[in-house]
Amino acid sequence: MLDLFNLAGRTALVTGANTGLGQGIAVALAQAGADIVVAGRSPADDTAARVRALGRRFLDVRADLSSTAPVRDAVAAAVALNGRLDILVNNAGIIRRADSLDVDEADWDAVVDTNLKSVFFLSQAAARHMAQHGGGKIVNIASLLSFQGGIRVPAYAASKSGVAGLTRALANEWAAQGINVNAIAPGYFDTNNTAALRADPVREPAILARIPAGRWGQPGDLAGAAVFLASRASDYVHGIVLPVDGGWLAR
Ligand code: NAD
Repeated sequence: MLDLFNLAGRTALVTGANTGLGQGIAVALAQAGADIVVAGRSPADDTAARVRALGRRFLDVRADLSSTAPVRDAVAAAVALNGRLDILVNNAGIIRRADSLDVDEADWDAVVDTNLKSVFFLSQAAARHMAQHGGGKIVNIASLLSFQGGIRVPAYAASKSGVAGLTRALANEWAAQGINVNAIAPGYFDTNNTAALRADPVREPAILARIPAGRWGQPGDLAGAAVFLASRASDYVHGIVLPVDGGWLAR
């Protein structure tokens, strides 16, 4: 039974995995047996050490994923490691906080290009390879703001709602080619992305009080969902957005 979750012999590309949720997911996939390629703006030395300590191969690709050329290069580099790409985790993302009346075009474009446009073109580049090699797994990192509007983050809410729609659109189109496209919607997690919220004396206790589990998430809390959606255990699961949120959406 547990062999359904075994990722030995698989190669996974995880974007934005030098820290935070991406690092937690990369380490979880390596624990399940996968070799790991990470793509992002900053060196991922800590992630490299953790993955190599598990005996897995590791490659760190420098790529600014807010534009499309590095996206194609990242996928090509991932394929070059072992001659195959089985798993893509679209994790890299940014958030900009401002009242909607004040958001400017540069901030809007930065958020939407990084969080949504790059997810499409990374998925397209990966799926072109996967479709020729018997299929694969694409896992997008969505958000509670794939379901809700949020506060002072309109571009982020639009981009993550777009990720949910894109997940369904691509799942629909590629399921017959053996490619599973699904998403994880993390709740409130303790990472750089939420540093401003956790430092806010009003928002932090209000958020904590609404989480049924009674605590913020830690990157390791995504491990089970990530391995499930990256493995044969999810072969008949297509187009879902799986909340891992300590019960937030059930409230
Ligand atoms: P983080 O800021 O710690 O990590 C973001 C990662 O994305 C970093 O590795 C960063 O270098 C990378 N990145 C950002 N812009 C990039 C670019 N242009 N090119 C390449 N890499 C880029 O935050 P995190 O919380 O770990 O965020 C990971 C993902 O999870 C994001 O998509 C975020 O929106 C999503 N998310 C986070 C939370 C949370 O509570 N922390 C909740 C829901 C969704």
